[in-house]
Amino acid sequence: MKITRLTNSACQVCGKRPPVVELVRAQLVRPVLINIIKQSHPGWSDEGFICTDDLNHFRYEYVRSLVETEKKDLSDLEKEVLESISRQEILSEYVDKEFESRLTIGQRLSDRMAQFGGSWTFIILFACVLMSWIVVNSVAVLSKPFDPYPYIFLNLVLSCLAAIQAPIIMMSQNRQEAKDRVRATHDYQVNLKAELEIRQLHQKLDHLLSNQWERLVEIQEVQLELLSEMRSHGMNSGGDEREVPPDR
Ligand SMILES: [Zn+2]
Repeated sequence: MKITRLTNSACQVCGKRPPVVELVRAQLVRPVLINIIKQSHPGWSDEGFICTDDLNHFRYEYVRSLVETEKKDLSDLEKEVLESISRQEILSEYVDKEFESRLTIGQRLSDRMAQFGGSWTFIILFACVLMSWIVVNSVAVLSKPFDPYPYIFLNLVLSCLAAIQAPIIMMSQNRQEAKDRVRATHDYQVNLKAELEIRQLHQKLDHLLSNQWERLVEIQEVQLELLSEMRSHGMNSGGDEREVPPDR
């Protein structure tokens, strides 16, 4: 009985006939490991055996390949993150400064005048000028007022001022609109970029969850197999030692 078992069981990989304890049935080998073994030993059959040394060798190869693909994936991800960060820096600039640097002297002046025309300072100042004009011309401070009672000259000055002020304000408003348009375009770009970044992050997370998690679990399974095998080996040798002393 013992002799037939020994003659039947040879390792499919190295062809040696080790003790039965060091042989593993081909059916018990994990499918992923069988794929790796078949690459170097096409004549692999599920009926045969494999010695533990060879099995451990293939296990090591498998874990090593898993860890290597893991490393490559990580470096790819890091590259993508670095690229996106540099692109982000180019995008989020302060657009107002660039817009203002493109303005001509006339445009700047009209902006200032529109700003001054729409302030309390201008209203108070203008009221003071009107009051003094009227007072000077009606209370006879001057012996010969330059603009007596219906103040016709003052009317002319006021209508000239209104005629000039209206186009200046309109110019300034047009420019404000152009500035808003530039800002809106820039905001759109930044929003789009952020949306793409978020989508990319989602993909990275999905990648981590599906691929890497799967690989980690596979590595752990192989390690658990090795551990349980080591444990059973330890128990076998421990049992031998216990049996040996009575013979001596
Ligand atoms: Zn072998």
